[in-house]
Amino acid sequence: MNVVVIGSGPAGLSAAYFAALAGCRVTVLEQLSAPGMKLLASGGGKCNVSNTLQIEEFARKFGKQWRFLLPSLQKFHGQTLLDFFALHQVELIADDGFHYFPRSGKSRDVLNVFLHELPRCGGKILCGKQVVEIRVRSGMVADVKCSDGSTYPADRVIIACGGKSYPALGGTENGYILAEKLGHQISSLYPAMCGIHVAEKWVHECAGISLADCQVRIDLPKWRKLPQRGELLFTHHGFSAFAVLDIAETVARLKKEMPQIPLRINFTPDTGHEEWAARFALWRKTQGTKKVQTLLAGYLPRKVAAYLLNDPDVIVAHWQGRDREILLEKLLNCPFSAIGTDSWERAMVTAGGVSLKDIEPDSMASRLVKGIYFAGEVLDVTGPCGGYNITWALASGRCAGEAASQA
Ligand SMILES: Cc1cc2nc3c(=O)[nH]c(=O)nc-3n(C[C@H](O)[C@H](O)[C@H](O)COP(=O)(O)OP(=O)(O)OC[C@H]3O[C@@H](n4cnc5c(N)ncnc54)[C@H](O)[C@@H]3O)c2cc1C
Repeated sequence: MNVVVIGSGPAGLSAAYFAALAGCRVTVLEQLSAPGMKLLASGGGKCNVSNTLQIEEFARKFGKQWRFLLPSLQKFHGQTLLDFFALHQVELIADDGFHYFPRSGKSRDVLNVFLHELPRCGGKILCGKQVVEIRVRSGMVADVKCSDGSTYPADRVIIACGGKSYPALGGTENGYILAEKLGHQISSLYPAMCGIHVAEKWVHECAGISLADCQVRIDLPKWRKLPQRGELLFTHHGFSAFAVLDIAETVARLKKEMPQIPLRINFTPDTGHEEWAARFALWRKTQGTKKVQTLLAGYLPRKVAAYLLNDPDVIVAHWQGRDREILLEKLLNCPFSAIGTDSWERAMVTAGGVSLKDIEPDSMASRLVKGIYFAGEVLDVTGPCGGYNITWALASGRCAGEAASQA
């Protein structure tokens, strides 16, 4: 049986390997000049493959469609995933007790497992091949056509084209276009896992400053994914880093309905209202002649401290109770207005994609066209930061590859 896999990301390579292992003639077609470019760049070149959560908790992090992921994850998650890579001499370790990375710290090692093993099972990867058409005859997939005019016969086609984000690493709308032509619905696409832009100009002036631990939430009732906590980086447009990456998708979605999305940031989540009030009282007793800004700079970068104060030159002895309350509010619950997100060029993940209602979760097969399968980010499945998306790509790839070989 000829299986053509479109895309050589973790989803496509996993699908190809497991289909080849089951005896299919597998050809992976990749538009770029080299395979797995996004995988190589992932996790800052270290590749955060997965994390330690158990299957159900892991799946729930993907939101309301979480049950769709279970059949795939049952095939390739947790110990099964660790054992697979260990078998191929790549040990995955969770040094921080949560995120799994290859012990070598090199994403190349993860990619190489597939690049070495696929040919051993008879599979091949052809680069510089952009698929532009999937042809169907008598309701059954027949072949695929590339932009250079070449065609490849296919009994099964696995669409693993990834998302639209990060075009430099292969991000494209190709997968959605191919799927749509075959009758699949595509839910709206949003940039996810990226920085957010805010209206407050002073934030832009602090670009480059990073705070190790902040808490960010969208200030709207019942916001599910929030608050987020972690490093916060000031940028020329707003904020980036872990404290906002998982908020970006929501900001992008809400932006369609409202021009500004209210945010609140706690700059010192480990130091609460009472501790700050006690600190201020001590300053008043012992440091009356000092500038408040100078003392605050012991806890926050001086530039940020200056912007948080109504009067950056005020000395402690002249500091009014009302101004102390205003500073407390800004330290622990500072309001900002999000006005957008980074563009597709910088978004690490695409939210939205091929609608799951047309996909069979046990096999990743299309319900509309016989012989078509999907895997990875091209689908309307988005996980947060932390190894969720690569695990999903590998697991759905395995599910699709195995099912395609059996059907
Ligand atoms: C900078 C960065 C860091 C990241 N870090 C992490 C991380 O540490 N952990 C994590 O879980 N996730 C991470 N992600 C997200 C993760 O990399 C993706 O979710 C994952 O790669 C998706 O896998 P995929 O195989 O579905 O798609 P991709 O990896 O995007 O692969 C799709 C492939 O298909 C090819 N293609 C597209 N259209 C065609 C066509 N028509 N013909 C032929 N080929 C085509 C593309 O060129 C591409 O190579 C990161 C993303 C980025 C951008």
